[in-house]
Amino acid sequence: RLYNEVIELKGNIRVFCRCRPLNQVEIANGSSSVVEFDSSQDTELQIVSSDSSKKQFKFDHVFRPEDGQDAVFARTKPIVTSVLDGYNVCIFAYGQTGTGKTFTMEGTPENRGVNYRTLEELFRVAGERGGVMKYELFVSMMEVYNEKIRDLLGESSNQPTKKLEIKQAAEGTQEVPGLVEACVYSTEEVWELLKSGNRVRSVGATNANELSSRSHWGTNLINSQKTKSHLWLVDLAGSERVGKIEVEGERLKESQFINKSLSALGDVISALASKTAHVPYSPSSADLGETLCSLNFASRVR
Ligand code: ADP
Ligand code: MG
Repeated sequence: RLYNEVIELKGNIRVFCRCRPLNQVEIANGSSSVVEFDSSQDTELQIVSSDSSKKQFKFDHVFRPEDGQDAVFARTKPIVTSVLDGYNVCIFAYGQTGTGKTFTMEGTPENRGVNYRTLEELFRVAGERGGVMKYELFVSMMEVYNEKIRDLLGESSNQPTKKLEIKQAAEGTQEVPGLVEACVYSTEEVWELLKSGNRVRSVGATNANELSSRSHWGTNLINSQKTKSHLWLVDLAGSERVGKIEVEGERLKESQFINKSLSALGDVISALASKTAHVPYSPSSADLGETLCSLNFASRVR
């Protein structure tokens, strides 16, 4: 039943592909970009393999290296604001480590990403609808690392950690009972919360799946009807295959958990596309294999 519901939602899934610029190290290494764009459209790109063969990929939109955070958010905005109409929304960034997932979702203070822009927009739209709808916004922030959930807003270093689990709620949505839900009134307030949550993150765990969820209680002031919806913003762990970099001990365990959870995600995506899927992206020639895998994966979702 879940699969059928998911498949019906297929038309609502949007897949955007963002290619970051080659960085200084890649340029210094003499790597060239394997990604080719077409000047006449912005939904396709080509990957040039070492034997000069080309493979074409199609998406809902392709962002080029020169496209900024504003260009990305222009495409994301209509999706995130639908949460205020009562829809559940999930946005996740997928790709190899170093491809720009955190840059896209979180961004930097000078170059704010999807998370911050989303909050600003939600508060703006909620204010605009003030006469008709009353919204209450709550924020939670958690990290999934080695299959353990950490409440990034509910923990302090001198406190024992709570054991948290994901549970399926009656409406079919996922919930984490016990997770702190902070009621928020402004973008600045949320931003401060996210910053303090970030400080609690696992030390050195750049490979954790980080999720922040905003849930909204919307009350229609005309008919008093109440709705609750969730927005999940997810910064996934790097999708590269283990083995590329030699890892052992804790790092190996970490990689195995990441592979396991990403493969579970892959199963869901395959169900959506009713095809089998695979894994990750970066424009550099050194990462050609991972890039092809990511693009294959992403283009099959549509
Ligand atoms: P990931 O989270 O996927 O591991 P990051 O978001 O940390 O990758 O990005 C790696 C580096 O590349 C960071 O220094 C980031 O600022 C930079 N970067 C990523 N995407 C872009 C982009 N589109 N434009 C400019 N710099 C970028
Ligand atoms: Mg990251």
